Amino acid sequence: MSHTRTLDECIKEAEEKKIALGHFNVSNLEMMWAIGRVAKELGVPVVIGVSEGERNFVGTKQTRAMVDSIKEELDHPIFLNADHTYTVEGVKEAIDAGYDSVIFDGTKLSTEENLKKTREVVMYVRSRSAHTLVEAELGNIGHGSVVRDSIPEEAAHNESMYTKPDFAKMFVDETGVDLVAPAVGNIHGMVKSGNPHIKTDLIEQIREFAGVPLVLHGGSGITDEDFIKGIEAGISTIHINTELRLAWRQGLVQGLSQNPDEIAPYKYVTDAIEAFSDLIERRIKLFARI
Ligand SMILES: [Zn+2]
Repeated sequence: MSHTRTLDECIKEAEEKKIALGHFNVSNLEMMWAIGRVAKELGVPVVIGVSEGERNFVGTKQTRAMVDSIKEELDHPIFLNADHTYTVEGVKEAIDAGYDSVIFDGTKLSTEENLKKTREVVMYVRSRSAHTLVEAELGNIGHGSVVRDSIPEEAAHNESMYTKPDFAKMFVDETGVDLVAPAVGNIHGMVKSGNPHIKTDLIEQIREFAGVPLVLHGGSGITDEDFIKGIEAGISTIHINTELRLAWRQGLVQGLSQNPDEIAPYKYVTDAIEAFSDLIERRIKLFARI
């Protein structure tokens, strides 16, 4: 049965096929259903992500239970990732709840402290599960899935600030992480004047040096052309959040304004679900090249 495949296997398969898995963030059950249904219809595995803020809102365990239930009902490989987790305690909570992967984000720490804590995270995960993956984010690409007026000052916005291939290799060797999210021109959030291009030759080098699959964060605002080039260069998972939040909000506003007398939440929310689902479909088709 398809849903018995592990995330690790699905990522390997994506790399071989030169496609990428979509990683989509959620804040509620409707979004989980939408992602599951579209992925099932298109026949590709998918990753649902929840950041610490999203987890606090939906519930860490409750998100796991809902994704499990949807995965079982659809009989489809749907994985759950604990997106950007800033503390070891936060990682433990997600792992204990049975998440398929976790991102320990130590980009605000010194390299020494980041290595130490990431090692601690990897040891904990290995002691708990053979198939749970640990991802490290290398390089600052700004924080928050928001619409921005300009590229954030602290984010890597020129080549000297991008992730260095030898640093990625050192980090993987020292910690044993399974996945790396590099800074290659990508930025969290959408920049109003347009997001920068991603550097594909650097992606190729980092993939080679790091020796583990790569995850592209900050997918919102990147052009279709850049996505394809990035996938060909070695990206096998792509994160989308900001543009999904935008689609949801716009759909909700439309649903409310067109049905001013409607009070049933499951009725006035349908436009939001539709806008969200349409975007998921476009992104999965692009990333899976179908
Ligand atoms: Zn991210």
